[in-house]
Amino acid sequence: MLDIQKIRADFPILKREVNGKPLVYFDNAATSQTPQVVIDAIVDYYSNYNANIHRGVHTLSQEATDAYEEARLKIQRHFNAKASHEIIFTSGTTHSINLVATGFSSFLKEGDEVMVSALEHHSNIVPWQMLCERTGAVLKVIPMNEEGELRMDTFDSLLSTKTKLVFVNHISNALGTINPIEEIIQKAHHVGAAILIDGAQACPHIKPDVQALDVDFYVASAHKICGPTGIGILYGKQEWLNKLPPYQGGGEMIKEVTFEKTTYADLPHKFEAGTPNIAGGIAFGVALDYMNDIGFDAIAAYEKELLDFGTEQLLAIEGLKIYGTSVHKTSVISFNIEGIHPYDIGTIIDKLGIAVRTGHHCAQPIMDFYKIPGTVRASFAFYNTKEEIVKLAEAVKRAKTMLS
Ligand SMILES: *Cc1c(COP(=O)(O)O)cnc(C)c1O
Repeated sequence: MLDIQKIRADFPILKREVNGKPLVYFDNAATSQTPQVVIDAIVDYYSNYNANIHRGVHTLSQEATDAYEEARLKIQRHFNAKASHEIIFTSGTTHSINLVATGFSSFLKEGDEVMVSALEHHSNIVPWQMLCERTGAVLKVIPMNEEGELRMDTFDSLLSTKTKLVFVNHISNALGTINPIEEIIQKAHHVGAAILIDGAQACPHIKPDVQALDVDFYVASAHKICGPTGIGILYGKQEWLNKLPPYQGGGEMIKEVTFEKTTYADLPHKFEAGTPNIAGGIAFGVALDYMNDIGFDAIAAYEKELLDFGTEQLLAIEGLKIYGTSVHKTSVISFNIEGIHPYDIGTIIDKLGIAVRTGHHCAQPIMDFYKIPGTVRASFAFYNTKEEIVKLAEAVKRAKTMLS
């Protein structure tokens, strides 16, 4: 059992008011809020040991390097990677995906196939389309059904020895569907394809074990796991990271530079050109400690309670339809009310202090599937409460009365 009031006290922002009402923050799938310990870690870095890492002999630089590399070790343990050099710091999920997609240009030829799912975020679609344009590879799409689940029968028939790479999200940000990634990884490997899992939306809710999953690449952003923006990771199996060419050239990523030839640094530095987000990396480690202290099992169980309660409360509103009704889903509720534009609902309930997301959630193909312009998306985190959900339902009812 979680002590929610104690947890809420860790988040300074939850004390604020919006439009004269206590903030109800239900936009967690876009970014999570930040606990005081994470804010303190950033302040501590800039107040006490701000210095560039990896190349200074002076004390501050060594302290900063140690803290940054300690964070990498924490992340390695969290994801259960075999080696810490399999954890590459990036600016986030989008950067991580682009790094892999760009690197794969040298492995693909015309007629090869790569496969995406119908449930993806734009950042797990566009880089691969760009890859296909560069290489002549063909993009195949695993379709979805009305419940917002992937059609695994079609996946089987799309797979072949032509398939070189499959990329699927672990959990859909627009609908909350938890995809059967164990099965997808195993089947992709069976035809010799590499697989990348976009874990941006999964990591706030579950603790992935990259070795047990046997996944080739797993990517995530810190800002959805109580960490700061502008920092994230690419996990890659050592064999793959050794094969992939560097993404950006610059300082930090080289062994030796002459005008004739440059040799690249070993992992992970080969992929970490330039001065990184040092404070962000350190704070990411602190955020994972914070989440692990609470415990991902307890978080998942409580969020399931919120999901069930929220589903019941919202479905009691006449004319309200929920998109994404898989039994395998996390605490995201995407909905519309018949005849009302999602944007109008979002605007009215913001006046009541409630933050939700409206629109296509960077997943336009899903909206096209349902033939809607967008949805209202309420996404719950472990610091939300049932009382807040009751407020949401009341606010949505009020918006409905005003708009119909
Ligand atoms: C948020 C999100 C992204 C993009 O993450 P950034 O931090 O904006 O790079 C990609 N995929 C999914 C599933 C997401 O939820």
